[in-house]
This record gives sequence, structure tokens and C-alpha cells, in this order.
Amino acid sequence: MKHNFGAGPCILPQEVFQEAAKAVLDFNNTGLSILEISHRSKEFEEVVAETESLVRELLNVPENYSVLFLQGGASQQFAMIPMNLLPEGGKAAYLDTGVWASKAAKEAKNFGQIDIVASSKESNYTYVPKGFDIPLDATYFHYTSNNTIYGTEIFEKPQTTVPTIVDMSSDILSREINVAEFDLIYAGAQKNMGPAGVTLVIVKNDLLGKSGRSIPTIFNYQEHIKAGSMYNTPPVYSIFVSMLNLRWLKAKGGIKAIEQENIIKARTLYDEIERNTFFKGTAAVEDRSRMNITFVMDTPELEAEFLTLAKERNLIGIKGHRSVGGFRASVYNALGITSINALVDAMREFEESHK
Ligand SMILES: *Cc1c(COP(=O)(O)O)cnc(C)c1O
Repeated sequence: MKHNFGAGPCILPQEVFQEAAKAVLDFNNTGLSILEISHRSKEFEEVVAETESLVRELLNVPENYSVLFLQGGASQQFAMIPMNLLPEGGKAAYLDTGVWASKAAKEAKNFGQIDIVASSKESNYTYVPKGFDIPLDATYFHYTSNNTIYGTEIFEKPQTTVPTIVDMSSDILSREINVAEFDLIYAGAQKNMGPAGVTLVIVKNDLLGKSGRSIPTIFNYQEHIKAGSMYNTPPVYSIFVSMLNLRWLKAKGGIKAIEQENIIKARTLYDEIERNTFFKGTAAVEDRSRMNITFVMDTPELEAEFLTLAKERNLIGIKGHRSVGGFRASVYNALGITSINALVDAMREFEESHK
């Protein structure tokens, strides 16, 4: 068994892979592959409807929010958000907690004035800035709830009355959230919801249609809402596999249940990082992520050797992002505690053999 700690596209449950494979050959006894059915067919309309209703149920999405399945990844949202929301000459506020957050701000600069309310760039994003002010005349405030590369996570929405937008690409569905606190939530599916190719957007309806800008149809949230995420051909297979994964999550007891598992998984690994004399965490303890756990060695010369051992033990994808180095264990929903234990065992084995 391979233990997939990859940061994204990520591990999904084995049973999801099996059902997804079956549907490639014969989707719902139609005698057709899911890859060849019409996106306008009754069968696929049911898939979209069920995917939306699972998102609404699992995340407790209020009625006055739309749920969209779009393409272009989270990166397209970086541009779509200001394009839809910022009036000419308008201003938005961004919190800079990493590469994704700063890319989001960079795109927004094409559409208006961008205030960076705080940044931890000077420490290579090892912590989340606190105690910053969000200007009240900003059209919206944007932040990234989980910093996939640096292993930091923001669990509490920063206090503000300014409409708040959050990139939850790498922690969506991993913990309970109050959707009503946010005005727009987006997430590329491939970190914790499904395969690459679909992006989830949850948007409060009355946030839209106020910028006075002319927006190309394909980038206009209101057009996608009107068309029920079918303005153009949607990513049929990615939505289907996401639905299977959401069904799996619901059967497991939903977000409350998975959050408890995620807490235990993260604690188990952080405990070993703290205990083991060869390893140390890179993120500030109070900001540590439950989804992406970053750590390095006191003696970097040994890192290659640990990667070799990890490979022998079928631990996949633990090499850290090049901008942080060391290791990163992404421990998304579908990764079981067995895999965490396998990594912990390898870390102990390494320590024993180097004493
Ligand atoms: C991976 C990631 C992105 C980029 O997602 P794409 O779907 O590849 O555009 C954006 N934000 C966060 C937090 C991510 O982890």
C-alpha cells in the first residue's frame, strides 16, 4: 500500500477510485461511459444537483448563497473575484500569508487599488500576521485560510465588517466553518474535494452585480448562477468524482467526524516532530496547519537519506516545496491514520539507526 502525502492533486478514498473507474466503463447502467454522456443529459443533471446538495448539506450553506462548479482552478478565481467585484477605481484589502495569497493580490492589481494589510513574507511565511487593520472603505477583504506550501492555517475569520473572501483550496471540507461569515468561498477541488479540473465557489448572491463593470460572460458569476454551472460544458468527470467523494464524506459522518480525525492525525505527526531529535517544525506553533505539515531536519545533509527511507516505506510525496525545503506531509481527508503511523514509524526508525 502506498501512503500518498502529496499536496495536490491529492489522495482520494479507494472506494471513490473504484466507483469512478466503474463509471468510465458503464455509468449507472446506461451502457455509456461517464466520459461520453451529454452534460445536458438527465443523468448528468442529477449528478450536478446531487453534488450541489451534498456541498450545501455538508457545509450548511445558507439559502441566499449560490454553489458553483467552475473551471480554471483557484488561480482563475484570483482574477475573477476583482473582475466581478471591484468597481473602477475601487479598493480591496489582501492579507499576504504566502505565494497563493500574493498571487491573488497580484491579479487583483489589474482591477483596482490593492492594500496589503499585513505580510509575513520577511520570515518566509512561517507565521500568520495578527492585529492588522482592514480599511473600512475596501470593497472586500481577501485571505487564504490554509497556506499549503508553508503549513500555516487561519482557523478564525479575521474580524471585520468588510465583505470577506477566502481561498479555502487546501482546507475546505476538513473542518467545520460558518459559511454565513463569508461572502465568497472558493477552492480548487484537487486538494481535498476531488480531482483537478473543477473549482468550487460558494457566493452570497447579493455580493454580485454591483461593480458596474462589463464582465466577459465566461468570467461572470451571475451568468454561471443563471446557467446552473452549465453556461458551457462543465468538467463532467471531475464533478462526478467530487460527488462520489462528498458521498463518502457524508457516510463517514460528515465534517464534524472528519474534523475529529484530522485533529488526531495532525497531533500525532506534530507530536513526533517535536519528540524526535532529528526533526523540527517550520511553522509557528499557534498557526500550524492541520492539512499540510511542514518540517525540516536539524542536519539538512541527512534529508536525502530520510527521503530514501520514506520511499522504501512507500511514503509518497513528502518532499517539501522548493521554497521551504525539508518535508511536507499533506494529510487531507482521505489519508488515514495508518499512513500517519507509517510516517511516524519511519521517523523513529531513522532516529534509532542514527543514534
Ligand atoms: C493549490 C492552491 C492554489 C492554486 O490552485 P489551482 O487550482 O492550481 O489554480 C490556490 N490556493 C491555494 C491555497 C492552493 O493550495
